[in-house]
Amino acid sequence: MEYCKLQLLGIVSLMLVLGNTQGWGEDGHAITCRIAQSRLSDSAAEAVKNLLPKYAQNDLGSVCSWADRVRFYLHWSAALHFADTPDNLCNYQYDRDCKDQNGDKGRCVVGAVKNYTDQLLDYGKDTQYNLTQALMFLSHFMGDVHQPLHVGFTSDKGANLVNVHWYTKKQNLHHVWDVNIIETAEERFYDSNIDDFTNAIQENITKTWSNQVKEWETCNPSETTCPNKYASEGINAACQWAYKDAPEGSVLEDDYFLSRLPVVSLRLAQGGVRLAATLNRIFG
Ligand SMILES: [Zn+2]
Repeated sequence: MEYCKLQLLGIVSLMLVLGNTQGWGEDGHAITCRIAQSRLSDSAAEAVKNLLPKYAQNDLGSVCSWADRVRFYLHWSAALHFADTPDNLCNYQYDRDCKDQNGDKGRCVVGAVKNYTDQLLDYGKDTQYNLTQALMFLSHFMGDVHQPLHVGFTSDKGANLVNVHWYTKKQNLHHVWDVNIIETAEERFYDSNIDDFTNAIQENITKTWSNQVKEWETCNPSETTCPNKYASEGINAACQWAYKDAPEGSVLEDDYFLSRLPVVSLRLAQGGVRLAATLNRIFG
């Protein structure tokens, strides 16, 4: 019994550790989804409410890390959290880069955003798809595609293999962007309160970035969502900000933290605004 418990505890903590290696951490995803839910049209808000599982109590943010928890048994979904681009090229192309390790096309975060958007367009029709899962996948992957290192280089696995120090702690660079920058910001500026950090980003959306929001929301008229654009911005930010001045073995401190926090905040904001825009287009 004791052994089982320990083993279970081991598995759970392993899941928690691994869970953070692919995707914004829990907080990043929750922030993106809460921003999105606050911007839904009446019909989209109604559809999201209908589709969310009961336990979510109509809080989209509470299920936005669900995709990270299921990737350990839904093995097919693991490749959908990111896209790998050729080393040091600093651009992204769907045909070249959106595939899994076996070379199956479309199996990357960009293909996933497209796919789950398409599935949700079946809402209100007779459908073969599980639209509750489609909503939870889409909401998660829209966050992931905005984490710059989720469209990173191939050989270092989106900087998962770049070892650095975050202040005094050993860390990999991917994790710094998934979790540490957000956590350090919350601790230092927001009394460790995720709601206060979310509100600060919301305020930037309505003030500092207000004249950019329309552009963030816009896709070609023929598209319901445009993740190729989000991924291209991602690898750009990865080169300009994430990889820059953070080679293997570097120690990242205030200089890095304070100059990158605005980029993280921007990407969380864009993820939220675009998830809302996509859901509003899907549900009319
Ligand atoms: Zn993820």
